[in-house]
Amino acid sequence: MILDGKRISEELLQELEQRLNTIKNSIDRSPKLEIILIGNDFASEKYVSMKQKKATDLGIEVNINRFDETSTENEIINTLKELNNDNSVDGIMIQLPLPKNFNEDEIISHISIEKDVDGLTAESLGKLFRKEECFVSATPKGIGILLDKYKIEIEGKSVVIVGRSKIVGLPVSALMLNKNATVTICHSHTKDLQNICKSADILIVGIGKPNFINEEFVKEGSTVIDVGFNKDSQNGKTVGDVNFERVKDLVKYITPVPGGVGPMTIVSLLENVINSYQKTNA
Ligand code: NAP
Repeated sequence: MILDGKRISEELLQELEQRLNTIKNSIDRSPKLEIILIGNDFASEKYVSMKQKKATDLGIEVNINRFDETSTENEIINTLKELNNDNSVDGIMIQLPLPKNFNEDEIISHISIEKDVDGLTAESLGKLFRKEECFVSATPKGIGILLDKYKIEIEGKSVVIVGRSKIVGLPVSALMLNKNATVTICHSHTKDLQNICKSADILIVGIGKPNFINEEFVKEGSTVIDVGFNKDSQNGKTVGDVNFERVKDLVKYITPVPGGVGPMTIVSLLENVINSYQKTNA
């Protein structure tokens, strides 16, 4: 069965719209999301414009703060400080990855935790691992909702995560651990990746390698979540990290790319913005 992130996200967007209309009656401004976009990476531009469109449709104001690759870290940090202190701003996110010459961790550390709607800061990630209240990073949050909507059991299951980045692998591992899964995290130094993946009841892959995971890596009847979002070098189409055609008949559930994790990520980010808006105006 295909885990239809597009359909689920559209249903959630409708629910969010209704919720926002009710909250807005008692607040004299709209929610506002500030996005920091550095450089001119093609994929980042695309992600930001998709987020902006969905947010605007919902009634969330979006402001994109553009910086070019010659900007200094101080300029970006000063902007973050201003946005942290601006009471009309509910959420701040930095579109990753940053160009190589920027210190990602240093820049991210200047987002205030109250506005860290993409769960990027060390503080938010630490809280997630400690199971404390925080904004959960949008992609893991979206994966959690998708599994929940399809009533896929997590507790006690073997969850293998391939990739350990700060926006995918690490927070998704915390989320799965918090849901009482037995979690294994794999990365580029992992030995015997194939067999470890094959042991998974739920396999979550976010590595940025087109069609890397094939039928040799998956267990029959398992669930496969493909976070990858890559351009196929042969035909230019968007493909995941999992070879969908070679895996789909073997597994019980699988996310397509596009239309799986991507739309769930956007709706999860927007929900975090609305939660922040409601909290600061309560
Ligand atoms: P990243 O920061 O480059 O991290 C990639 C991770 O994959 C690293 O931990 C790396 O291991 C691991 N890895 C790379 N090659 C591997 C291999 N051959 N075997 C095992 N592990 C390997 O990437 P990211 O930002 O997490 O993004 C990953 C993918 O998800 C990309 O395609 C990105 O576009 C996509 N993405 C999609 C969404 C969405 O909403 N759909 C959101 C975010 C990202 P090391 O740590 O050892 O280097």
